[in-house]
Amino acid sequence: MTLTKSLYAGMASAFLAFAAVPAVAGDDHVNVVASFSILGDMVQEVVGDLAEVTTIVGPDADAHVYQPSVADAKAVAKADIIFVNGLGFETWSDTLISESGTEAAVHVATDGITPVEVEGEIDPHAWNSLSNGVIYVTNVADVMKQAMPEHADEIAANADAYIAELEALDAETKAKLAVLPADRRTVVTAHDAFGYLADAYGMTFLAPVGIDTEAEPSAKDLAVLIDQLKAEGAAALFVENITSPALVQQISDETGIEIGGRLFSDALSERGGPATSYLAMFRHNLVTLMDALSRGTES
Ligand SMILES: [Zn+2]
Repeated sequence: MTLTKSLYAGMASAFLAFAAVPAVAGDDHVNVVASFSILGDMVQEVVGDLAEVTTIVGPDADAHVYQPSVADAKAVAKADIIFVNGLGFETWSDTLISESGTEAAVHVATDGITPVEVEGEIDPHAWNSLSNGVIYVTNVADVMKQAMPEHADEIAANADAYIAELEALDAETKAKLAVLPADRRTVVTAHDAFGYLADAYGMTFLAPVGIDTEAEPSAKDLAVLIDQLKAEGAAALFVENITSPALVQQISDETGIEIGGRLFSDALSERGGPATSYLAMFRHNLVTLMDALSRGTES
């Protein structure tokens, strides 16, 4: 364990040990705000119709570079409870929360997760491993049970049923990806959003852009990646729902490696799309990876 990781783990457990959530007075109308669509869906699964859930960064939108609106500030101002991802994902949330004047407590859904580092930076995309998804849901349920003690049993039942689904899909993902041969396990995405998926399921993800979409890749970095792909190959390239496909298309043109489809990295799809929930998003990504990577391996 690195020093950074052990510090984080220590801070997380200290937070969990001393965090007490006061019950929301008159809990017939509880307003919960979640910072982005994937987390908003997890919160909705846990609270059902017991609370009103508002999401700040919506479907197909990039939370790394989000600019909060006046409507967002109003939603935060009247919130009873706020959930954020943490790990440096929402660079705009501290300002939004402090300027809104809200009295709501802010809860970090990734508390207790072991952070993955990508090139020396903490990767915030912890939801891209389903065992981490279970930690998010457990944290959300713990907060909501304390905030709405009359409904603690219903919240616990919702969370347990949801966690069972996450665990079943986790086992299925491990079983399916396990059959891929070693030379079909390296893929390229637009930005580094899949470090946790790589660690959990034995894959390698390369990206021309780092963990934050704000940075443009330098021409030199892009050339280094293209040279590496020409020399070592990759099984497929994938575009993302939150970033322009142009960069991945350019890499495909220069290396001859096929684009295998579109992955949902940081946000759900709009209604009617293939990834309208966290479970549907993860399943879509699994099917897209398997379709592209198992091609040519079955004889
Ligand atoms: Zn991202």
